[in-house]
Amino acid sequence: MSTTALRSPNNVLANAVEDAIDVLRPRILATDADTIEFTVGTQINGHPHIGTHLVQSLAFLVAQEARDAFGIEAKVCFHALDNAPAETATDPMTGTVYQRTYRHMLTEGAIRDLLDEHYTRLFDTLASRTGVPFTVTTYSGQQEMPEYRAEFLRTLEHLDGIRWWLSPAYGAAHIRIPCPQCGWSEKHAEQTRLVELDDSGALFTAVCLNHGHYEANIDPFGGGYLDLATLYRNVVKERCYRPGHTLPVMVKGGDWTFGCQLVDGAHGAIGVPAVPPLRIFTPLILAPDGGKLSKSLLLQTEQAGQAATGWLLNPSAWPGSTEDYVGALTETAELLLSDPKHFFRSYTTTELERLMTTRRSTSPANQGQGRPRNMAIYRQYFDLIANGSKTVEVRVAYDSMKRIRPGDLLRFTCREDACLTRVKRVASYRTFKEMFATEDVKAVNPTATEEEQLRAIHAIFPPEKEALGVLAIEIDRVNPDA
Ligand SMILES: [Zn+2]
Repeated sequence: MSTTALRSPNNVLANAVEDAIDVLRPRILATDADTIEFTVGTQINGHPHIGTHLVQSLAFLVAQEARDAFGIEAKVCFHALDNAPAETATDPMTGTVYQRTYRHMLTEGAIRDLLDEHYTRLFDTLASRTGVPFTVTTYSGQQEMPEYRAEFLRTLEHLDGIRWWLSPAYGAAHIRIPCPQCGWSEKHAEQTRLVELDDSGALFTAVCLNHGHYEANIDPFGGGYLDLATLYRNVVKERCYRPGHTLPVMVKGGDWTFGCQLVDGAHGAIGVPAVPPLRIFTPLILAPDGGKLSKSLLLQTEQAGQAATGWLLNPSAWPGSTEDYVGALTETAELLLSDPKHFFRSYTTTELERLMTTRRSTSPANQGQGRPRNMAIYRQYFDLIANGSKTVEVRVAYDSMKRIRPGDLLRFTCREDACLTRVKRVASYRTFKEMFATEDVKAVNPTATEEEQLRAIHAIFPPEKEALGVLAIEIDRVNPDA
């Protein structure tokens, strides 16, 4: 078992749940979805800092825990915001600010290279560690999709209702449609006008820095590039999701808890009863002065020549291998997720540095053959595994569970406690009853009869889950120091 010196105060949300992922349960219970997809968006301007990597790591770990706890397939969708501004210019005559996005500055290949450089290693490691698959999409790819464009066109019917939510000070919805000739667009869309809206699409007029007035059409299947500012983009993205086989969850940095007030206001103003989006907010990372760790702060800090720990701002400066950095990052993310009090709070860079560097040298047994797979488990069962009296763990045979093989390391977790085990044997059965006919009832749970255990299991797993099959996983405790 591992313990740490991390202490966190209680708060309303942490107090209401047993585990951070419990916030997903109401929606999961109300859906027939067989897959849960965690979407995490990241601006691709320059190298990421620790806060970005932490949100991404937590997306994988939350997905893994949700998969294991709710018995639902889970995946991560990494959404690269290649519409981040790469350069700006001001029209000397009018003072209008123009910008050009990364997508309009770089080739698609150059954007792939950027993603590769900053994220691929981390994502591959997280995917193999958690068994959670991931996809990478770009904003440019998303804005081309007919459903995204159609959803945007629907919001235009409510433009007067939403523009004050998207821009409470000025009431200006920032719809940027870059000049088709040079790719520059007005940053604040002051001169961009919606002139026509009908069933087939929308017609805008706008002004280019180099080419003056131009017209641009947006329809579901074509037209100009549609660059929406952050709040508007999130409103459209969240409305694109329909209840179905996949349950979408937005993974957002903690600072979004403030911003989502405006997104929700816009959803309300549109009024169509969209299912409210499911979001999970990750800890906010703060600079020593209490402000959010940000890229602009990073620049100021560099300019001021202050020696903030370099690797917090630029992970490539970590004093060790990339693998070592990813290991420390993942273990820290696991620690934050291990208790809702650790998850629903903020961390200063100082505390985060302490956690990442302390755990680096004392990391629990993850050096052996293969990384352990984490399995969240209720306290009563955790204690039985930890004291060695429960040697068979029972799970529904989801695809993710079917990947477990003899010899694999399983790390059972309950809050901050962990118990490392190795798989001796995996047996599959058609039903729980059939399983109990073969397996030793006392090895599954030494404190309950077969009848009591079946009743408890059936209360958790409805017949359609049991229909997937049942796995009995025989385990042996492993001494992490051995
Ligand atoms: Zn132009």
